[in-house]
Amino acid sequence: MSLTNKKYDFSGKVALVTGSSSGIGAAIAVQFAQYGANVTISGRNAENLDKVANKIAEVSNGVKALQIIGDLTTDDSLPKRLIDETITKFGRLDFLVNNAGASTPNGKLDSPNLMEEFDKVYKLNVRSIVELTQLAAPHLEKTKGNIINISSIVSLRPYNLVYGSSKAAVDMITKTSALELGPKGIRVNSINPGAVITGFGRSIGMDNDKFNDFLKQYEQKTLMKRIGRPEDIANLASFLASDEAVNITGSIMVSDNGSLKYDFSGKVALVTGSSS
Ligand code: NDP
Repeated sequence: MSLTNKKYDFSGKVALVTGSSSGIGAAIAVQFAQYGANVTISGRNAENLDKVANKIAEVSNGVKALQIIGDLTTDDSLPKRLIDETITKFGRLDFLVNNAGASTPNGKLDSPNLMEEFDKVYKLNVRSIVELTQLAAPHLEKTKGNIINISSIVSLRPYNLVYGSSKAAVDMITKTSALELGPKGIRVNSINPGAVITGFGRSIGMDNDKFNDFLKQYEQKTLMKRIGRPEDIANLASFLASDEAVNITGSIMVSDNGSLKYDFSGKVALVTGSSS
């Protein structure tokens, strides 16, 4: 996308995107900056954050991203620091994108450390969203800004109890906070991606090769025979953040290339009374 082809004008706006050192969050931060927003980016990996900050400077004619390094599972002061430092640096907040998230390879009911993993995943995927929403609300009320939570379509499959239920919680947080914040002029929406090519495999214990194999198989199960790109999700995030989405709140927006929810291939069905 070139700068001469700007779809949205976010100049003067400020976005905080969690988990923006790679993948979907990085693509959203870069795209928001491309449209003119100042952005706070965050994650644990300082080197990756630097790369994203450089990309932002490159595509946005010099927007300097505020980088905040920290671990949302271990640093209880981080959510407040993310909001406070954003306000100190940029003076306002228009868009909160709760994107940081991970799964676990140890989510099976018979896993010996199930509860530790549960606490870790919930702290990142659920608690941080609630706390950031609470802390951001007064600032978003002033700007009539909005929140985008990155959830998931999470297919119903075994061993997915921890991650799957955490993302179900995200959807309910979106709907309930939309109800509460709507009267203050703040919109809240979720984007629920299907499989997207990112570093997400790490969090389920898959190296890049194994995750790529999984994505190749998954691709065949989508209606569009396509795997998501981080930019697909960023495109939807930009639309939701913009005034064009002024009538959308409390929505769960699926972006999954038409992932099949059930695989009946090889089965035979007889349905009586099916002529109309
Ligand atoms: P990535 O692993 O590429 O990105 C995850 C981001 O979250 C990184 O910036 C990472 O930063 C940050 N993060 C992870 N753990 C922590 C932590 N403990 N504290 C602070 N930041 C953390 O994966 P995706 O881009 O795919 O994931 C983004 C979101 O999209 C997640 O919420 C995920 O659940 C969701 N999603 C992804 C799908 C996919 O197929 N890729 C499908 C559906 C939903 P760092 O490594 O620097 O700590």
